[in-house]
Amino acid sequence: MNLEAFILGSGGMMPLPNRHLTSVLLRREGELFLFDGGEGTQVSLRKLNLRWKKISVIFVSHTHADHVTGIPGLLMLSSQVDRDDPLYIIGPPRIAEYIETSRRVLDMYINYEIIVQEVTEPGIVYQGEGFHVRAFPLRHTKPCFGYTMEEDPRPGMFHPEKAEALGVPRGPLWAALQAGETVTAANGSEVRPGQVLGEKRKGRKFSFVTDTLPFSEIADEVHYSDLFVCEGMFERALEESAREKKHMTAEQAAYIAAAAEVKTMALIHYSPRYTEYDLKLLLKEAQNIFPGTILSRDRMVYPIEYED
Ligand SMILES: [Zn+2]
Ligand SMILES: [Zn+2]
Repeated sequence: MNLEAFILGSGGMMPLPNRHLTSVLLRREGELFLFDGGEGTQVSLRKLNLRWKKISVIFVSHTHADHVTGIPGLLMLSSQVDRDDPLYIIGPPRIAEYIETSRRVLDMYINYEIIVQEVTEPGIVYQGEGFHVRAFPLRHTKPCFGYTMEEDPRPGMFHPEKAEALGVPRGPLWAALQAGETVTAANGSEVRPGQVLGEKRKGRKFSFVTDTLPFSEIADEVHYSDLFVCEGMFERALEESAREKKHMTAEQAAYIAAAAEVKTMALIHYSPRYTEYDLKLLLKEAQNIFPGTILSRDRMVYPIEYED
């Protein structure tokens, strides 16, 4: 099952010619989930040549302009295709007001149902087939949420030699065992899946955290993420100013990634003060703490693989 993250925008505050505002599209087996939609989101979708007009859910961190101003255009353009399923928009208080006002003032023609859910406390906010999305509060200048998308555990590895030894021949019975069913062996005895399957294996986990002060509970929430997309807005020298603005440095993000034992952390939401070249400094400061750090770049595609 394919799971990929497309970085649509990696900037914070202000769009730059080669850096749109924060937005990540997650594609799981063809189904699309958007995390924030700043200015320029549609441009990146277009450049990536994605068939994007049937996004299932838009998760919004908070209602600052650099995270939501790309959304009205997306909603309007999504009407160019027919869809039966509603579009869910999940975000902090006032997201409903923002969507409703945009629809009304912009006289948007929308040919599908939009269901807006406001999040006020930590918990599961969306459940799909084989995965769920959880929201948890961040600490910013206004209500803001981080999100984790986590797949259900997968069955353990199948051991054909054990099945054979128990008298279950290769064929449909093997498939039944792998699907978790008890079968009857050639000698009439029952064979349970637990006898031929290894330990359950972890599903994949994606996390999205921006804009916030660093605090230790973030690491608990994003624990064992395969891809942890995290704000790394400033260099270490600007830590004081980051704290005042309720943001974090790349280095602080790296401490969270290390504590959470994530596989890869992709920094995002860079201050416009940094040129593409300058971002190397943020990367270096983060990698000193957490070597598995990478820099998000606009239109980067990151496949999220199973661990085993
Ligand atoms: Zn922001
Ligand atoms: Zn903000």
